[in-house]
Amino acid sequence: MSGVLEREASAERRAELAERLERVRGRMRDAAGGGPVPRLVVVTKNFPPSDALALAELGAADLGENRDQEAAPKAEALAGRLESPPAWHFIGQLQSNKAKSVVRYASAVHSADRLSLVKALGGAMSRALQEGLRPDWAGASLDVLVQVSLDDDAAGARGGAAPADVPRVAEAIASTPALELRGVMGVAPLGADPAPAFERLAAVRDALRADHPGAEWMSAGMSQDLEAAVGAGATHVRIGSDILGARR
Ligand SMILES: *Cc1c(COP(=O)(O)O)cnc(C)c1O
Repeated sequence: MSGVLEREASAERRAELAERLERVRGRMRDAAGGGPVPRLVVVTKNFPPSDALALAELGAADLGENRDQEAAPKAEALAGRLESPPAWHFIGQLQSNKAKSVVRYASAVHSADRLSLVKALGGAMSRALQEGLRPDWAGASLDVLVQVSLDDDAAGARGGAAPADVPRVAEAIASTPALELRGVMGVAPLGADPAPAFERLAAVRDALRADHPGAEWMSAGMSQDLEAAVGAGATHVRIGSDILGARR
């Protein structure tokens, strides 16, 4: 995918995105039941920069991506088109050698799951700041969440640190200049009731806050399990297909 925006979204596509975005916002308000409504991270992976631009113009201030090769050119394309570009949230498994690229556009990384990655992100951030490679719109610090495995087996089929390892990863983030520890992220296990998994994630977040009062974020909930996540206290939901459509 190239960094240039080859075409704009059609009027029809724009209307469809507007309607689906509103429908998801309605579900979030209903799920919150009068309580605080989480932030919506619209996951634009597998969809063209024209859709991301249309969504940003419709008021989506937070966009999510899970592959650096796709996210980097998309972020660049939008930065060239908008006075205030959206905040990009990196939500996927991240190889340490991609940290250097990710810190040139991401405001937040939701998927820190090991000490080596925290170290790579910290090093990449300080170099990017020194060399002026981090754009102002991405922010002077990087918000980082510890991804917690919510799978019953410790192998973590859907990624993340085992709950017992979370304090060490969190401590490493908190003690790295230019990284801001914000909280936790989780993906519900496949084929199981998401509600208890999100309750476990909330408990991990609450335990973390005893030592790190600023670690308030809980990034949880996708198209299929948004309501369960909001019910468990998610502060950020990550929604792709219910807004953009089925991914090819
Ligand atoms: C793709 C993805 C999402 C969005 O999933 P949908 O089911 O399309 O809403 C959320 N979180 C992560 C980590 C993802 O990779």
